[in-house]
Amino acid sequence: MVGGGGCLLLMGLEMMGFEHSEGETRGLCRRCDRVHVVPRDGALRAMQALQQELATGRLAEPGATDERGRPIVDANVLHQPRGGKMFGVLVGRDAGGSVVVLRAFSGQVGGAWSIPGWCPPLFDVGAWLSLEATYDPEIRGVTAKLEACEQDAARSVLVQRRAALSRKLMERYHGLYTFHNFAGRLGGWPQVLDGETRVSSGMGDCCAPKLLNEAARRGLAPAALVEFYWGATNRAKTRTHKETYSPCAEKCAPLLGFMLCGIRDTP
Ligand SMILES: [Zn+2]
Ligand SMILES: [Zn+2]
Repeated sequence: MVGGGGCLLLMGLEMMGFEHSEGETRGLCRRCDRVHVVPRDGALRAMQALQQELATGRLAEPGATDERGRPIVDANVLHQPRGGKMFGVLVGRDAGGSVVVLRAFSGQVGGAWSIPGWCPPLFDVGAWLSLEATYDPEIRGVTAKLEACEQDAARSVLVQRRAALSRKLMERYHGLYTFHNFAGRLGGWPQVLDGETRVSSGMGDCCAPKLLNEAARRGLAPAALVEFYWGATNRAKTRTHKETYSPCAEKCAPLLGFMLCGIRDTP
């Protein structure tokens, strides 16, 4: 799909303002002691196709369901206040040279981690649901007690207890994450972050990690990757509908060195 018409298409995209956007996906790899890079522009046409689909309001085929068996929400929820979200597209080639396009949304859409046709998260969703079923009722029990409690000292004990339980559950969720890279390595947080960065909430849930993990898992060679925002402007007003952005510095940059290792790029 990256054919002879590419130049004309890219000129058209530049006239539409994409030249002001940030670009490529970069990661400083400690193993190779250099930056691995995936360019952006080869994914812009696939991005436009995805945007056309999102504009129809459809995120999945009719009748599709998420990990809890619920119907998939309409993409128009993304235009409700604070409903906007980052999306991403990776264009890669499989072992036979055929072009494969992967799509991802950041975090969850309408409470769903798994939507048919989209990259899965970096953990087993069934294992996540079973952790939730095991440990969440206790947290909700403490919350209920807290709501009924009027004595300050007792309340503060409950607040601390709930925070400790939530932190422990968060650690259990984080323990489910596995990262595939293009050098054929499979790592958890200690391998990916190399002890330099703490795991924080939402880390590993952005589009770039989902796209790269799925590409590596399927043996695809990434040719291009782009992330864009879709929907209502975020509260901080740092994200604009249809604008493209580089993978974020705070949650993604620390992961990308490991995740990009093994891609065929130029030094
Ligand atoms: Zn990110
Ligand atoms: Zn490397």
